[in-house]
Amino acid sequence: MKIFQAIVDSVLGKPIRKIISKDKVIYLTFDDGPNRHCTPKVLELLSKYNARATFFVVGKNVECNVDVFNQIKNEKHSIGNHSYDHNYMPFFKGVKRLRQWIEFGEDAIVKQLGVSTVGFRPPAGIRTPELRYIMYKRKECLILWQHRFYDTVSLFTDDKWKKKFSSIESGDIILLHDSHKEPDEFLNSLENFINALINAGFKLCALPSQ
Ligand SMILES: [Zn+2]
Repeated sequence: MKIFQAIVDSVLGKPIRKIISKDKVIYLTFDDGPNRHCTPKVLELLSKYNARATFFVVGKNVECNVDVFNQIKNEKHSIGNHSYDHNYMPFFKGVKRLRQWIEFGEDAIVKQLGVSTVGFRPPAGIRTPELRYIMYKRKECLILWQHRFYDTVSLFTDDKWKKKFSSIESGDIILLHDSHKEPDEFLNSLENFINALINAGFKLCALPSQ
């Protein structure tokens, strides 16, 4: 798997998957929000543990949920660009259209709401040579993740995070989603996961700007 990843990285550019720091930190990231049902509850949980995280928001969802977005911002979490509409088609329409689409998503956050982002995470982590070129021109790296739990495909359970827990290292970026329509079970496991990380000595931090 690591060899395969290295080959893909050599063709499509090496994304950020972890950030080495002298502190023992973990970067939780939540994609696809803000969501009216789920995001405020995730924020409540993070606040309970004095934890910070990063929210890779979808521009369209920001426009529909400005109050939730402002809550993320006011509670000192960081914000990432996860595109305007979570569409996959712009990846197949050439460099110019792809760049415009990325910048349109960024504008929905930066210009309209006055928030700078930590960077771009493509929907589903899609990478193409065109995207590599655009990131090079923008002097940015894509932000992906070191661990994910496919929590949009099937429920995020204690079993899922326990299975991977021993492989989690300081600096790792972890992908989760704050888009769950009925988030109660997700939140239960998330709280257990946060507790386990804190008990293992990790500090939960927001991603810094590039
Ligand atoms: Zn997504």
